[in-house]
Amino acid sequence: DATHVPPTVHHIPADKVCGRAKDVIRRLQKAGYEAYLVGGCVRDLLLGLVPKDFDIATSAHPEEIRRLFNSCRLIGRRFRLAHIYYGRDYLEVATFRAPHDDSDDGGKVNDVGRIINDNVYGTLEEDVWRRDFTINALFYDPISDELLDFVGGLDDLRNGKIRLLGDPEQRFREDPVRLLRAIRFAAKLGFEIEPATLACMRPMGILLEGVSSARLFDEIIKLLHSGHGWNTFQLLGEYDLLQYLLPLTYESLEDDDTGNFERMIALSLRNTDQRLAEGKSVMPGFLYAVLLWHEVSVVAEELQRKGMPELQAMTQAATDALQDQVDFTAVPRRFSNITREIWLLQSRFRYRDLRRANLLLTNPRFRAAYDFLCLRAEAGEPVKDEAEWWTAFQTATPEEREVMCKGAA
Ligand code: ATP
Ligand code: MG
Repeated sequence: DATHVPPTVHHIPADKVCGRAKDVIRRLQKAGYEAYLVGGCVRDLLLGLVPKDFDIATSAHPEEIRRLFNSCRLIGRRFRLAHIYYGRDYLEVATFRAPHDDSDDGGKVNDVGRIINDNVYGTLEEDVWRRDFTINALFYDPISDELLDFVGGLDDLRNGKIRLLGDPEQRFREDPVRLLRAIRFAAKLGFEIEPATLACMRPMGILLEGVSSARLFDEIIKLLHSGHGWNTFQLLGEYDLLQYLLPLTYESLEDDDTGNFERMIALSLRNTDQRLAEGKSVMPGFLYAVLLWHEVSVVAEELQRKGMPELQAMTQAATDALQDQVDFTAVPRRFSNITREIWLLQSRFRYRDLRRANLLLTNPRFRAAYDFLCLRAEAGEPVKDEAEWWTAFQTATPEEREVMCKGAA
């Protein structure tokens, strides 16, 4: 049964709740439906964090939501949702879902127990139990200022525990992405994965092979580009999940005698975390350039030893590595093109003639490729002189540049 937690106990700061979300909830309730804030925003509000977005759950069906809000659009097939627009922003409103079994005709589970259709509407209580972790299953009514806790989520939140609802093995089978979400929240919140949940994680990793590569791409970006990337990466290794997401990276790490590659990943992910903390942008193309670099450079070297010209060898190695990776996590072209350019520019940093050096500075990918070079140098690759030369060259006057290039061409 639900525990109704009053404001004197939950301490959610009313002024941190998005006004629009509150308006939407009020309107739904006035029309006779139940409506709550739910999921990550409730968790984050309770922890004093700033929620990324304010998701709403309601007893109203999608068509009913659309009838109440002019700017509403319905999206999704596997999981039908309402988006209520405010210019380019929107709030997501989801109808309560029921759990599934094979006998339902709406909700479908495939032969390994995975959910393939999620459009069986249900009650509030049913919606609670289909969620992943207790800390993500709290409902908050901003009008009455009451928190609903059916699952002991508030206790787990206060004790820093990630606990899967229900039978962990079954819940991981239904949706193996929950394995990655457990790691993501553990890293982000500094929480511990509770023993019964943790106990079945390692052997379950292989189920990630059945998850679409598009979904895994989204997930990998959330894992490594959400401000706790290095910590998350280490946890992925610790729980034997890395090999299913980034098999080439995993193998490279096994083969990393110098430790340069692991250092490079650590430096890069820490730097990414730092940039995100400062509100700066980060590039998936750069992330993949780092994660696949060991593989690409080893293969390119091999091809060169067999007599292939340097640029051609790098191009070939890049194509092969990206193609292999794409079988596991999709890498959209707009990102993989950048990855490829970063790799191909590495050999050009050896040029020291004035015309070519100046030209390289104007390349739209110079900055990323130069950052990548510095990262390699810092990780221990023998490119320190090059990195220093390019650092100096960028800020040099035209006369100084001429001197730098004399005799070095
Ligand atoms: P974030 O801060 O990263 O957005 P979140 O908890 O809001 O965290 P979302 O992916 O936005 O994560 O999902 C919103 C809510 O939907 C979750 O809190 C959880 O209740 C539910 N949910 C999301 N993905 C799953 C899943 N794979 N299985 C069960 N419930 C899920
Ligand atoms: Mg969210």
